[in-house]
Amino acid sequence: MSTAVVLGGGFAGVLAAAVLARHVDEVTLVEGGGPYPDGPAERSGVPQAHHNHVLVAGGARALEALLPGTVADLLARGAHRRDLPGDALVLSADGWFRRHPTGADVISCSRWLTDHVVRRRAFADAAVTVREGTRVRALTGDAARVTGVVVERPDGRAETIRADLVVDATGRRSRSGRWLAALGVAAAQEETVDAGLAYATRVFRAPPDLAASVPAVMVHPRPGPGGAGHGATLFPIEDERWIVTLTGTRGNAPPVHEQDFTECAYALRSPVVAELMAAAKPLGGVRPYRSTANRRRYVERQAIPAGFLVLGDALVALNPVYSHGMSVAALAVLRLDRELARHGADPAALPRIQAAVAAETEPAWRMATVRDRPGGPAPAASPFAQRAREWAARATLSSPLLMSRMFRAQMLIEPEPSVDATRTELGEARTEPDATRTELGVARAEANAALLRELSRDPGPLLGTDEAIAQYPALADWWLSGRRPG
Ligand SMILES: Cc1cc2nc3c(=O)[nH]c(=O)nc-3n(C[C@H](O)[C@H](O)[C@H](O)COP(=O)(O)OP(=O)(O)OC[C@H]3O[C@@H](n4cnc5c(N)ncnc54)[C@H](O)[C@@H]3O)c2cc1C
Repeated sequence: MSTAVVLGGGFAGVLAAAVLARHVDEVTLVEGGGPYPDGPAERSGVPQAHHNHVLVAGGARALEALLPGTVADLLARGAHRRDLPGDALVLSADGWFRRHPTGADVISCSRWLTDHVVRRRAFADAAVTVREGTRVRALTGDAARVTGVVVERPDGRAETIRADLVVDATGRRSRSGRWLAALGVAAAQEETVDAGLAYATRVFRAPPDLAASVPAVMVHPRPGPGGAGHGATLFPIEDERWIVTLTGTRGNAPPVHEQDFTECAYALRSPVVAELMAAAKPLGGVRPYRSTANRRRYVERQAIPAGFLVLGDALVALNPVYSHGMSVAALAVLRLDRELARHGADPAALPRIQAAVAAETEPAWRMATVRDRPGGPAPAASPFAQRAREWAARATLSSPLLMSRMFRAQMLIEPEPSVDATRTELGEARTEPDATRTELGVARAEANAALLRELSRDPGPLLGTDEAIAQYPALADWWLSGRRPG
């Protein structure tokens, strides 16, 4: 009889347990946080769950492939779908986006609802034994082969659970590096890229007429050296609530005191989030969160013992501002399913499967770390290159093609946009300030023709705040009707 044990029953662990149950005879899930509630309610063990958690389109597709019907279930229970920027009012560093549906959407609801629905569907058919209130303390086996896990039961007694396959899904604070070291396994190489981002989040009861019709709102920080300003997002979630998050970087963390939180929202580049907050009723205080560094454990590059695999945040934890963590976990579990089908649930196959699973996380890791490394993306090579970048950024605010490419990449449904590549080609292929039309023509010929056609169009004037809001009738009606408190 083949057996597997999954360590940690958060988002990745629950999905992994459901998938393993398709490939082995017995699966045990060990969860050391608070007990699973019956409904979409809070539980300890996932402190980040108090903050905004959207599921981006690429992750939603992976989740559907793993557990068909999950997205419809979430929507039926009050989650909202918001296309970017079709249903989202977005003020980027360069200006307001023009409204256009791109198919790049997010599912927005509380993390508690996502976890509840995923758990319910994952455990509906899968034969998984769930051990709640049980903490993992160590692995058993040796440097060549992991054979199980030592857990501390709710009564405080230690117990060994033997298994052919052991999957670590204990999240950002995983201790499996230490557990492996105790078996004599050399430490995996680790990389941390920390943008120093801090979150402050408050949940509101929305005014009934706007609760469900509000677009998602995103106000990016003021551009400038160090990008030190505050940003904000507002997303509708289930039960006529809105979740508002303010962000800031180290030394400029968003305030947690309620009055200061409000004032900080008014001081943003647009007061629209603050005005919406003023029309809504706070449900509880402001919660901070600071553990946001990108951290990658290159487990697949070390000599991993047979029978052991790492998934989810334990493998790669991402800066939450990109909203990719759950989606990357779902994509990785989907890959696990496919690799197990291909290689069989053989302990000896797991190191190879680990490499395939890790490869699924690479696009999101690259996207986050290119932006978050000190100094950000490489500076433009010349004033011409800088102008080309600015032109491209401005064109993206109004061009359906350019914005689609950008948002579809950000929502993990297409590779990183060739908009960036095109900017680079345009900017860096011809760095002379007096680049002639011929030279520009050469760069254009080398790049994607359709994108370049868009880039060579006049992007038109930037939208003002009222014009940007006017694109979303329900919001515009409220904004202009005098119903807003200010
Ligand atoms: C502020 C913030 C906002 C975020 N917003 C988004 C977003 O909008 N979209 C998105 O996709 N992602 C978001 N994320 C990322 C997301 O939270 C994670 O990527 C996701 O939870 C990863 O799932 P996981 O199962 O690996 O870890 P978790 O969900 O954290 O689960 C780990 C589980 O392991 C258990 N555990 C830990 N140690 C032990 C032990 N020793 N024994 C037994 N059990 C143990 C814990 O109790 C927990 O249940 C955000 C993260 C943060 C910090």
